[in-house]
Amino acid sequence: MRVSDTFPVRDGLFAIVEGGTPLLITGRCNDCARLHFPQQSTCPYCAATTVTQELLDGEASLWTWTSVLREPPGYRGPVPFGFGVVELEAGIRIVTRLTESDPRQLTAGMPMRLVVDDLHTDDEGRVVQTYAFAPVTDMGVPPDTDPPGADGEAG
Ligand SMILES: [Zn+2]
Repeated sequence: MRVSDTFPVRDGLFAIVEGGTPLLITGRCNDCARLHFPQQSTCPYCAATTVTQELLDGEASLWTWTSVLREPPGYRGPVPFGFGVVELEAGIRIVTRLTESDPRQLTAGMPMRLVVDDLHTDDEGRVVQTYAFAPVTDMGVPPDTDPPGADGEAG
């Protein structure tokens, strides 16, 4: 367990369930039933003040993306990093960090999955973590790496 030496960049964004799977902490309005992220005490759509927390699994598809080349103010993590919008299976789109920083490796609609990403180490030596979305191809199946004319069979 690395729980003691890591902490989220901000409380209330994601939760880690048994087995290490991250879930997004969203809010569902009891009035208009719309989801929002991050969870707020007031519905951003209808201003109702009755919001129920809902943990969503991180299956999503990529909507739009870019690569951030320079550190935004206050940012202490590595650059470049990917940044974009994904659409969760539950139907909401959220702004998120992406683990893939090369825009050429990303395509609209590609399957993405929620992960927890190490951002930087703070002054007290703790690893600050945030949520991010990773192309599903990054997890297990290697991306299509088949350069034309590569015939280097070893052994
Ligand atoms: Zn509402």
